[in-house]
Amino acid sequence: MGLFDKLKENFSEWLGKAKDEAVEKVADAAREKAEDAVDGAMDRAREKAEERREEKEKAEAEEQKAREESRVCEKCGRKAEPSEKFCPDCGGKIVERRRVCVKCGHAAKEGEKFCSQCGGEIVEKTV
Ligand SMILES: [Zn+2]
Ligand SMILES: [Zn+2]
Repeated sequence: MGLFDKLKENFSEWLGKAKDEAVEKVADAAREKAEDAVDGAMDRAREKAEERREEKEKAEAEEQKAREESRVCEKCGRKAEPSEKFCPDCGGKIVERRRVCVKCGHAAKEGEKFCSQCGGEIVEKTV
């Protein structure tokens, strides 16, 4: 075997190794990138879910508060405490006063005169 052939052989061997290494490097980098992307997406999804949960809890707490605040005495109109079933002033029954749409029954927020869903008139109802 001539020197040239030997060099050629060495070179192709080196080239093959270098190629393998390069392929491995690219594959590693791609894998890392993919893992990072998945991690990031999962983190974001977790954060989003957490945010949604907090928003839901807040909305529920507000609804609960509004329900409690809407409880009044049927007879004298006195505002009732959450634990009261009958009015301590006059013995009247405690009822829940709700502002709802006459058309679709959607619960209105404080100060709303017309339904945000259908434009219907908001009336006060006792339950
Ligand atoms: Zn009363
Ligand atoms: Zn409505």
